[in-house]
Amino acid sequence: MSVPVLNKDIKYLPGVGPKRAKLLREELSITTYEDLLYYFPYKHVDRTTFHQVRDITPGMSNIQLQGKIVKFELAGKPNKRRLIGYFSDDTGIIELVWFRGIQWIRKSYEVNRTYVVFGKPTLFNQKVNMVHPEVESLENYQGKIQQGFEAHYQTTERLKKHYINSRTLRKLQNNLLQEVKDEITESLPSGLVEELKLMPLNQALLNIHFPKDQEMLRKASYRLKFEELFYIQLNILQYKNQRIQRFNGFVFQQVGNLLNTFYHDHLPFPLTNAQKRVLKEIRKDLGSGQQMNRLLQGDVGSGKTLVALMSILIALDNGYQACIMAPTEILAIQHLHSIRKFVNQLPVSVRLLTGSTPQGERREIHDQLQRGELQLLIGTHALIEDTVQFYNLGLVVIDEQHRFGVAQRARLWKKNTNPPHILVMTATPIPRTLAMTAYGDLDVSVIDELPPGRKPVKTAHFYESKRYRVIEFMRKMIHQGRQIFIVYPLITESEKLDLKALEEGYDNILRHFPPPKYAVSVVHGKMRPEEKDRSMELFVQGKTHIMVATTVIEVGVDVPNASVMIIENAERFGLSQLHQLRGRIGRGRFQSYCVLMSSDKLSGEAQKRLQTMVRTTDGFEIAEADLKIRGPGDIEGTQQSGIPFEFKIANITRDNELLKVARNMAMQILEEDPELKQEKNQILAEQLQAIANKKKNYSVVS
Ligand code: ADP
Ligand code: MG
Repeated sequence: MSVPVLNKDIKYLPGVGPKRAKLLREELSITTYEDLLYYFPYKHVDRTTFHQVRDITPGMSNIQLQGKIVKFELAGKPNKRRLIGYFSDDTGIIELVWFRGIQWIRKSYEVNRTYVVFGKPTLFNQKVNMVHPEVESLENYQGKIQQGFEAHYQTTERLKKHYINSRTLRKLQNNLLQEVKDEITESLPSGLVEELKLMPLNQALLNIHFPKDQEMLRKASYRLKFEELFYIQLNILQYKNQRIQRFNGFVFQQVGNLLNTFYHDHLPFPLTNAQKRVLKEIRKDLGSGQQMNRLLQGDVGSGKTLVALMSILIALDNGYQACIMAPTEILAIQHLHSIRKFVNQLPVSVRLLTGSTPQGERREIHDQLQRGELQLLIGTHALIEDTVQFYNLGLVVIDEQHRFGVAQRARLWKKNTNPPHILVMTATPIPRTLAMTAYGDLDVSVIDELPPGRKPVKTAHFYESKRYRVIEFMRKMIHQGRQIFIVYPLITESEKLDLKALEEGYDNILRHFPPPKYAVSVVHGKMRPEEKDRSMELFVQGKTHIMVATTVIEVGVDVPNASVMIIENAERFGLSQLHQLRGRIGRGRFQSYCVLMSSDKLSGEAQKRLQTMVRTTDGFEIAEADLKIRGPGDIEGTQQSGIPFEFKIANITRDNELLKVARNMAMQILEEDPELKQEKNQILAEQLQAIANKKKNYSVVS
């Protein structure tokens, strides 16, 4: 909206001034008229009707009365004074009660003047009264821009200290709308407004702050939510179009030797249908002439690595190099192992580069890369460094995207004259709604099928007080020949405490499962690597029954005979982490069990997390639940992703359907007019420009 009055500094608004302007800026980031106008209420209270005093009952929620204070009276002991105002309408009298601000109340309100009173009736000394009601003169009440539902605004402690509360903000909105309401111009094309029967912008802004009634409020909110979601989608989709136009992708036309040989001679098991489908999607991208930017979602254990490898073989067959970037060294090493296992009979050169690669080796790798002798490089962030130069990088695979910032992705792009194709893999399934916004410029492929023969893990939640039953269960499983993981949380800030918990837990386990009859491995981050490897190896070979470990095994070993996982202090893990951990079992032919141990006292949120884990093994459902419990801003990694998740009005979980409408609309418009050059779309181009100017960090760099 390029209405000059809306750009005015908030300090010029009647009722604000420099002091309050500073507070509003510091506490709510409100600096202009427009900022305030778009500071939306978090709830509305019905003030459309007046009640009569004789009808009041103590169970009522907030109600509104109109009448006069006929008398004031001080009551109570000197150190516990209260002020009573006897409030009367034509039907009866009710007591208004104040415990604080007595002097001020007494001075501000006059006997026998007409007031509008708002509050919740309560029962006190067998009488219905109203404690600390809102009181407003009738003139004031009628002077409001529009009556009906009352908006309530979020403020902060500091603002409240300076008497800027919800009511103050309402007054300011009132002043603001008086001044600007006739100057607000429409911000969506008229065709769109008509087609979706949207409330015009000026009406919507008026009614979100001062709704006439429920229906007007609903329409206002719908319109403003739509607009917010629509422009985000339009922005993302247009960006994506431009990216496609701006860059040519390398064309991988050849179906070459490596892929063929691998597929026919070395594929260890038939691909699942989902893997086949996804591979087809990737191959289409790679041959299209446009740069691929694809997100590969697939639950833990769904076989993403194999898909990545086969995509890589296509790149190599066409004379290009490839790389895989993982967020941690352990993950990178794990990729190296599984890739090497797959290609050990093929002429493919693979190496590992991480932060701990020695200088000499590093130099060698750099040389080989630049000469094109090294075909596939697997590693961590170390790959991004400027010293890492490829001869001809054609495909980048990024694992666990959510842990990488968007800017890091961009840096990998620059490793060739044309940007390489990008395949982003994530094991944390991102709910569709979030993906549509956060990764809206990526195409999405989903592996929604696990390899055959996997039995879903059975999960139960046990409180500490029932530990003896868990011990019995463990004994039973060991006697059946199974192995058991026991996992402890290890969170850096309290590393010492956590280690202590693990050590105590280990001692406890030894007491219940003493040698020589039983053998227990222990693995944690503070051990020397050789020790760790040896301990792990014993477990892998089936020589120990139990492995007590910190979350290092989250990404570690593959032990099909380990069919039980006990997660200690499960309440301290996030949902996606629990899901990842649980993915370590259920890989063999045995029924597997996951036991979530928790302390007896749990927060509501923790309770919900554990219940979710017990209810389902479906990663998508878990991710949806996570989103609902925590809200989108909290989903791991989205905070660094550079996308604004602080919606002003829309709610990404609740407004799912509207998001789809907005996205489809944006697509439709861009399909018809990709550059928004048509007359009727002028307004869209301007709005996008305004958004871009306002938030430089808003754009989605991929
Ligand atoms: P993730 O998607 O979690 O990265 P992985 O790629 O590590 O999963 O695969 C999990 C396990 O399943 C690996 O041991 C892998 O070899 C195996 N696997 C992958 N694809 C198949 C398949 N089509 N049939 C059977 N096993 C498979
Ligand atoms: Mg994996």
